[in-house]
Amino acid sequence: MKKSTLAIRTQTPRTPQGEHATPLFLTSSFCFDNAESMRAAFADETDDNIYSRFSNPNVQEFTQKMVAIEGAEAGYAMASGMGAVFGSMMALLQQGDHLLSCQSIFGSTHTVIAKYLPKYGIETSYIAATASAAEWAAALRPNTKMVYLETPTNPGLDVLDIAMISALCKERGIILNVDNCFATPFNQTPIDFGADLVVHSATKWIDGQGRVLGGVVVGRADLIKEIYLFCRSTGPALSPFNAWVLSKSLETLEVRMEKHASNALYLAEQLSAHPALVDLRYPFLATHPQCDIAKKQMQNGGGIVCFNVKGGLAAGRQFLDRLQLLSLTANLGDARSIASHPASTTHAKLSEADRAAVGIGPGLIRISAGLEDKDDILADILQALG
Ligand SMILES: *Cc1c(COP(=O)(O)O)cnc(C)c1O
Repeated sequence: MKKSTLAIRTQTPRTPQGEHATPLFLTSSFCFDNAESMRAAFADETDDNIYSRFSNPNVQEFTQKMVAIEGAEAGYAMASGMGAVFGSMMALLQQGDHLLSCQSIFGSTHTVIAKYLPKYGIETSYIAATASAAEWAAALRPNTKMVYLETPTNPGLDVLDIAMISALCKERGIILNVDNCFATPFNQTPIDFGADLVVHSATKWIDGQGRVLGGVVVGRADLIKEIYLFCRSTGPALSPFNAWVLSKSLETLEVRMEKHASNALYLAEQLSAHPALVDLRYPFLATHPQCDIAKKQMQNGGGIVCFNVKGGLAAGRQFLDRLQLLSLTANLGDARSIASHPASTTHAKLSEADRAAVGIGPGLIRISAGLEDKDDILADILQALG
């Protein structure tokens, strides 16, 4: 069956109550009929549920849908996107290994890579989002165990060539781990381009209405097994309630992403020549420097548009203050459109030079296109631009 059907019809077996929607399994543990079935479950001879830190029917349903729509072999869901990012690194890396990461990554992921992994003797280094194949090859070391990237990047919207990078990793037996949060599996499936692992913050587009936190990692079964064993002992389990919300959200993800992307494309086209802007970026606009790569690996340009307003930091803040419809909030991927100004918020602690290195100008505005009418969103942005 196709991804759209699997995201809707993958379902926990019906209970004797005959319910149509999956019920909530709010239970911390599960019962056994006898000592022998309990022994066998603990010995991993059966896959019966034991305890919700290990597995739970709601979490399982959400995970199986993600596995199906990413085209993966296996998966494990966590309490947040950062739980997925951290678990996928800590379960597979050890002292003496090297992790190479694209420089333009989510802020907390940067903290994990720059501050925590080195504490455990794991070497880390960064490479620019726009690096060529030769630069990627040169940045790989004999002890490189994992390559980590996000595409499109947040918030600069650079697009990285997953097939090119995965070919370099495969030659050297390196694990390629891709954060697919920005695109979602209905827009981009990194495993089709050679990724070994895909991590997600389900908090964003997958939830889609700004309600719950969640994360998931899917990919090669042998790697997921290690991540599962690490997480079931260390505790970042996804709550059954959040999993229930996220599984229902997956039923509408495809249609939502089509509207988010068509709204974002409309905003990009209408605003790209606006005199108050220095520049505007959207992966499917011909003016985007990696538009060809985006069209090769993505179904659409996604739901995020970025632009730099003339006048730098002060103008960026003024733009936010003038907005009336769009929300000022740290999240993205909501039915409600959101504007953020990274230089004064998420990336305020970086120096101007460090911000520039990851594509963040002082007047950069990130718009997460919601599901409202496209002209209502555009009108608010236009009036805020003055
Ligand atoms: C939000 C986000 C994360 C972290 O996810 P949480 O659910 O907030 O822990 C990781 N990667 C990207 C690209 C994100 O946008």
